[in-house]
Amino acid sequence: MQQIYTFGVKTEQPTAMFDITQEVQNVVKESKVKQGICIVFVTHTTAGITINENADPDVVRDFMMEINKIVPFEDGYNHFEGNSAAHIKASMMGFSESIIIEDGRLLLGTWQGIYFMEFDGPRIRKVRVKIIEG
Ligand code: ZN
Repeated sequence: MQQIYTFGVKTEQPTAMFDITQEVQNVVKESKVKQGICIVFVTHTTAGITINENADPDVVRDFMMEINKIVPFEDGYNHFEGNSAAHIKASMMGFSESIIIEDGRLLLGTWQGIYFMEFDGPRIRKVRVKIIEG
C-alpha cells in the first residue's frame, strides 16, 4: 500500500494560479513508481486543481481575469462567510486531476502544467498526491 504524499502551497493573493508540476513530479520520482496513475487532490472547498498551458504567463493572467468576471466577488450572495465566489470557482475547476505516469514521469503535453487554483487567499494550503502503480 502506497502512502499519500502532501506538500504545502502558500498563497499571497485572493485569487491565483500556481504551477505545481515540479512538486508533483518530485513526488512521482520519490515514489519510484515507473508506470501508473498520479492523483492530485486538494482538501479545500475554495481551491481547485487544473491542467493548462504553462509556457506563456499571459494565459494565467487571462484565465484569472475571465473567471473573476464570470463569477464576480460580490453578487448579492447569501453565504455568511462572504466567500461564495470562491466556492463556486473551486467547483467549476474541480478538486483533482489524474495524470498517467510513464517511465517514472508525468505524461503531460509539452505545454501542459498542473496548477493549484487559489480562490480565497491568502492562505496556507495542502496538496495531496496519491500514486497507484499499474
Ligand atoms: Zn465559505
